[in-house]
Amino acid sequence: MNEHAIHRSNFIMTVRWTLRFPGSLFFQGFAGFFVVFFQFAFDAFAQTGDTLAKRNTVRFENYFLDRALRLEILQVGDSREFITTVQSYAEEACWPEYPDHLITPFPYGKFMIRVHDAASGTLLFTRGFDTLFAEYATTKPAMEGVQRGFETTIRIPMPKAAIKLSIDHRQRDNSYRTVLSQHLDPSDTRIRRESTSKIDEVIHIQRSGAPQECVDIVFLAEGYTASQKGEFEQDVARMTKHLFRVEPFQSNQSRFNVCGVFRPSEESGTDNPNKGEFRNTALNSSFNTLDIDRYLLVEDNHRMHQMAARVPYDTIVVLVNTTTYGGGSICLDYCVCSSDSTLSEMVFVHELGHGLAYLADEYVGNVSYNDIYPENIEPVEPNITRQLDPAHIKWKSRLTPGISLPTQIGTLDSNRRVVGAFEGAGYLSHGLYRSQQYCLMGSTDPKEHFCAACEDAISSTIDFYSPRPEP
Ligand SMILES: [Zn+2]
Repeated sequence: MNEHAIHRSNFIMTVRWTLRFPGSLFFQGFAGFFVVFFQFAFDAFAQTGDTLAKRNTVRFENYFLDRALRLEILQVGDSREFITTVQSYAEEACWPEYPDHLITPFPYGKFMIRVHDAASGTLLFTRGFDTLFAEYATTKPAMEGVQRGFETTIRIPMPKAAIKLSIDHRQRDNSYRTVLSQHLDPSDTRIRRESTSKIDEVIHIQRSGAPQECVDIVFLAEGYTASQKGEFEQDVARMTKHLFRVEPFQSNQSRFNVCGVFRPSEESGTDNPNKGEFRNTALNSSFNTLDIDRYLLVEDNHRMHQMAARVPYDTIVVLVNTTTYGGGSICLDYCVCSSDSTLSEMVFVHELGHGLAYLADEYVGNVSYNDIYPENIEPVEPNITRQLDPAHIKWKSRLTPGISLPTQIGTLDSNRRVVGAFEGAGYLSHGLYRSQQYCLMGSTDPKEHFCAACEDAISSTIDFYSPRPEP
């Protein structure tokens, strides 16, 4: 039996459970749910994003410099109350994203940062993001009032003039509550403008074009000693090769830049507190995050982003030098996977699906609680739904013509190409549906492919970071 712990973030309520899904893979997990009222909320919110994008006539060069401003944020509190504050600011050498994509078209994220021009009030920039604190806030200790603090990081383009920054927290009814609001002048002396560490060595794996026109993946070395640099290079190359065997990454390979950043660790491996194992490593990664055995994450989020800033990047993959199974992801921020477990490549692609494209888990388990995704509430994730109306289902354009909804579970071969609504997703066996019977986000499909909904969501993310030329 294989042991897994593939985890999601962005949850409001906590559920801990042990679950089993087809193929005898055994997951021990923790999650909660997004609360988004009723089945059309996703469409409504997506349309809001589209409308904003269409309305946005802001020219990047009028308001921003080609640099990034990194906000190193702290969130401290429990499940009832918390504070969000910027601990420090830092400048990065370039803005790695497509300059005209200032307003996010995606309805994702437990939090949303908005940047307004201070003088005119014009909305300049938005991004959704998740945090480890939001996940902690769903745990039993947090519900019992134990306050903890967690780091998170968000980047915006470097403004030319004073801005108003706000961070909003998504509520159960999908409305937002502002948890931080402040003015910032780009000449503020608190903004660190230091060079990145030259100790960190850049390893180029694939370069396809300018960072603003490509999806930029950076692998960070964690738990590799100076003498293990060659192993890190080989591991990154192996993971990259595997990624581009899987669609839609395969057919879009030429739109990706991939590199590694190597920082030698004092010791090899990672922390495994339950086994009494502690290693002095570059990013202080650890199993047993939030007291879940296989949950492998990096809590030193600021240090991680400082290391990643050595290169332009859109998403971070922390590669942990260990043979022990594990991984995790904070959606729209970073993901972590072990380098040398028997399932490392599969876990890497799965976790990247969370980290890059906000995909939900599609597996099913025997949960102790049944309100992870509450009834009558449509999850915001693009690959699971409660909607069975073919006119409104998220992946309506991909439905197999004439397919009945819900769709009958069949054999792997009989349903290989069928796109419908298969019951069982988001940890629940009833009431939530996935687009295909097998998907990397949920099953042990031996052919390792994403379902239609996941493919489309990943493709949309690729288009966001690497837009195709206008016809
Ligand atoms: Zn899927």
